[in-house]
Parts: sequence; structure tokens; C-alpha cells
Amino acid sequence: MEALRDTIVTVDLGRIGRNMDKIRNMVGPDVAVMPVIKANGYGCGAVGIAPTLMEHGAAYLAVATLTEAIELRNAYPDYPVFILGHTPARFLEHVVDGRFTQTVIDYDHAKALSDVALAKGTKATVHLKMDTGFHRLGTSDKEELLKMAKLPGLNVEGIFSHLALASEQDDWDQYNMLCDAIDYLEANGCTFKYKHIADSISLGDYPEFRMNMVRPGALVFGLTSFSRAHLDVEQCMGMQTRISQIHEIKAGEGVSYDYLWKAQRDSRIATVPVGYADGYPRNMRDKGYLTVHGVKCPTVGVLCMDQLMIDVTDCPEAKEGDAAIIYGDGSGNTMSIPEAAKLAGTNKNEIIARILSRPPRVYVK
Ligand SMILES: *Cc1c(COP(=O)(O)O)cnc(C)c1O
Repeated sequence: MEALRDTIVTVDLGRIGRNMDKIRNMVGPDVAVMPVIKANGYGCGAVGIAPTLMEHGAAYLAVATLTEAIELRNAYPDYPVFILGHTPARFLEHVVDGRFTQTVIDYDHAKALSDVALAKGTKATVHLKMDTGFHRLGTSDKEELLKMAKLPGLNVEGIFSHLALASEQDDWDQYNMLCDAIDYLEANGCTFKYKHIADSISLGDYPEFRMNMVRPGALVFGLTSFSRAHLDVEQCMGMQTRISQIHEIKAGEGVSYDYLWKAQRDSRIATVPVGYADGYPRNMRDKGYLTVHGVKCPTVGVLCMDQLMIDVTDCPEAKEGDAAIIYGDGSGNTMSIPEAAKLAGTNKNEIIARILSRPPRVYVK
């Protein structure tokens, strides 16, 4: 289907598949890989990338919310889907109906899910969430975890925690606290098919923390932040647009709201149909650039909701309809996701996750 818009997000499924293969090779056959595709697959489109991940050995697809899980379920009746976040008690019947694996965060939450499952004549598959210091979700109380594990309406398949990545010592403290609780629970009759704590960064930096399942998000999409490990993943997402119009303006004339940018010289200013409502960071003003014919063309003036302007004076061949690269892989003078994160003062995950649904996703192999 044609995209019907000049501004598109390109997602290279070949790269996603190869990144998955590299992650699986790195962790080995005894560690299950559960790619995290919350936030619409980190902006890549969860439904669009899910089959590639399953074909490349994903044990589960993890999302943050019930709504994200339902979107995947509607597209794929049989994929195993894991909900990392809290699903409030009043929505738990949808967890059972959707056959989702739910994170349970404390006894009351687990009991509510157990009751819903029993009322439907079934069991809900869950992973217990232990709070080892992050203080986001879960309980740190071993006795409470044991009570949760014994609920009759639950199939307790796993236990997990999440690292704050505050320091090496803190990471080990968190990991050891989880292991200690697992020892206690196993000594009291619990068995867990899956035990996990590692995200993209820690699965590389701490091989011990891989336990028997890892939860990479950023790494699947080719974004690395290891401090020690190295994995040669490839950025899978690109974003591009086309020039709508070019204005020749005189030195001293302003561009965009409040004329916050004024031309120092006679200039050629190109308008492109991408704005902050597409997820392009508004604070890229005076920092960002798009790439036209291999030339970095700085954004000028206030970035608008649906459009922004770039200075193409130094790219004389630029003309209306020409491609302008918003995010590339860094080659050919394009802005990579890591560079965009730096310029916008945020992290790489936010740059891609904030790309909204408006620009169509175009999948390439
Ligand atoms: C988002 C998330 C991940 C993946 O994080 P990355 O840093 O992108 O690898 C893993 N686990 C949990 C609980 C998460 O919320």
C-alpha cells in the first residue's frame, strides 16, 4: 500500500532479524530471549515487526500495557505476549481472555488475578515481580512472594526484577537480592521456568545476570549503550521526508514563529512536512539538521507542529520534491539516533519511542 505521505519511518526487518540472531548467539541456547516491543515497538510498529522477531527465535513478545498486548493479540492469535506493567484489577479479565502472561506486583494484585481466572475456570500465567531497589513495581517481601506463588488460580511461570543501573555495586546487590529470594522460594516448593533481570545494557555487561531469560529492547532495534560488552547490531529505523517548497529570502528576514531565526545572508529555505506532532523533538531548534543530497542542512527557526524549515543555501542542487533524511544510520552525513538523542538532551529510546503513529511505517527487508 502506498504511504500517501512524504514523511515516513523506514524499518529494516532484515536488520531486526540479524540483531535478534546476534543477541541469541551472544547469550547462547540456554537463555530465552524476550524482545521488548512496548511503545509501539520503540516506534517501529509492534505489529509490523512481531513476525520477524518470532521467526528469529523470540520466546515471548513483551509489552508495557494491556492495550499494547491486545493490539498484538488481535493481529496474532497465537503469539506469546508478556505484559511488563501493572494491569489494574478492573481490567484483569482481559488478561485472562487474551491469554497474556501478566506481571503480578503484590499479593492483592496476584489474588485479584487468581480470582478472575478461577471464576473463568482457568489459570492465569504470571511472573512474580520482585522489587530489588528500583522501587517502581513489585514487592521485596519474600513471604509475600511465596503467598503469591501459592495462589490456586495462577500458573507461576517466572520471577523477575529490573535493574536501576546505578553502579556496579548496586547492580550486584539487586541481582543477589533476587537470587536470594529465588533460593528461598525454591526451598519452599516453588519452581520457575523463567528467571530474569537483564535489559539491553546489563545482558551485555554482566553475563551472570542473563539467568535463563533476557529482556532486550533497545538492542533489538540496533541501539547499544554497553559499557564493557560489544555487539555489532545495526540501527533498524530511519526517517525521511521530502521538500514541500523552497523560499529564497534576503539577509535580515526572519523564518517561522516570532522570527526567532533571521537570515545572516541571502538564503534558500526549504520547508519539510515533519513536525513535533510526528515526534521530532521541538528542542532541536538551532541544533538539528536534515540531510539533503548528502549535505547537512540546519533546521532554522521555531519547529512547528507539522512542518519545519531547513537552510539549504549550501546545497544548491536542492529542489522541491527532493528527499531530506531526518534520521539515518550516521553514514552520508545523516543524523543517527544516538546523535539525535544527544542534541535533543534525551536518550535514544525516547527519540524512537516518541515517533507517533502519524508518519507511516514502511518495512524493508
Ligand atoms: C523497557 C524495559 C526493558 C527493555 O529495556 P531496554 O533498555 O530498551 O533494553 C526491559 N525490562 C523492562 C521491565 C522494561 O520496562
